[in-house]
Amino acid sequence: MKAVFFTAHGGNDVLTFGERPDPVPGAGEVLVRIEAAALNRLDLFVRDGIPGVPVAFPHVPGADGTGVVEALGTGVKGPAPGSRVVLQPGLSCGTCEFCVAGERSLCVSFRILGEHVPGTFAEKIAVPHANVYPAPRRLSPEKAAAFPLVGLTAWRMLVTRAALRPGETVLVHGVGSGVSTFAVQIAKLCGASRVFVTSSSEEKRARARELGADEAIDYTTADVGKAIRELTGKRGVDVVVDSVGAATWRHSLTAAAKKGRIVTCGATSGPNPEEEIRIIFWKQLTILGSTMGTDSEFAAMLAAVDAGRLEPVVDTVFPLADARKAYERMASGAGFGKIVLKMNG
Ligand SMILES: [Zn+2]
Repeated sequence: MKAVFFTAHGGNDVLTFGERPDPVPGAGEVLVRIEAAALNRLDLFVRDGIPGVPVAFPHVPGADGTGVVEALGTGVKGPAPGSRVVLQPGLSCGTCEFCVAGERSLCVSFRILGEHVPGTFAEKIAVPHANVYPAPRRLSPEKAAAFPLVGLTAWRMLVTRAALRPGETVLVHGVGSGVSTFAVQIAKLCGASRVFVTSSSEEKRARARELGADEAIDYTTADVGKAIRELTGKRGVDVVVDSVGAATWRHSLTAAAKKGRIVTCGATSGPNPEEEIRIIFWKQLTILGSTMGTDSEFAAMLAAVDAGRLEPVVDTVFPLADARKAYERMASGAGFGKIVLKMNG
């Protein structure tokens, strides 16, 4: 099969487009012929090499994918070959105390497609049957590839961890990332009364408003924390979605209302922000971590996508052979929504 892979960590020059052996589905696995895959920031980190996370070279990256079931391993009853499916990118052991409690992403040996095991930037992949879900019929392969990881991440952050309620207010930093485009939509779906976003790009601010954001702040000309306080009559917002980290953390603390919740799922600008503990205890804030999600969260998010209540946002589509261009686009930060790789394009 054709695949993108690398045999050493490094920059984009380590990415190779070439032949890899077809995977064979083992017991309990499903072989999927991938139609489209999508990039995540995780793929940049995996290419660079993540300390403490060794990969087996040659390594095929990619967490998100959609395609058609080609064959079933022993003991698997479905879905039938020919079915269109999307992949839940989180892999878990199924037996630890967290798995038994249904908390897949808390598994003591939690792994992600394309990070710890071969991923979706290939014409075929074999995955556990529990990771295979029906693809929404209304979506093209490009759109069906563009939501599993970020949709699941944003859903758990807002619905489960922050427990967003109707009428509350939300700030989403750095709109344009896959997680942020879903966070805006999920916040509105939950009944948020006002959703604020930030971006340095006028085009991204305009597109975020089209997605449902009520107000968009240019963080290059405004102090975001102060701007939120002014826009909310000094009250602040109930929930802050922060996947940016070092560059935004102090603004998150300032923007949060008394008893507000700050949810973090990433630190794209750096993991060690300047902290201000006095703000946390004085405002009685709750700081919530979140990583991907459970099967029931995935099913709920998928149902909302299926029903057209959430719309995957595709930035650009590249043929698999042009994966380096897709990685460059991801690294540039210029995109709005997901960067997709098409297998037979
Ligand atoms: Zn487990």
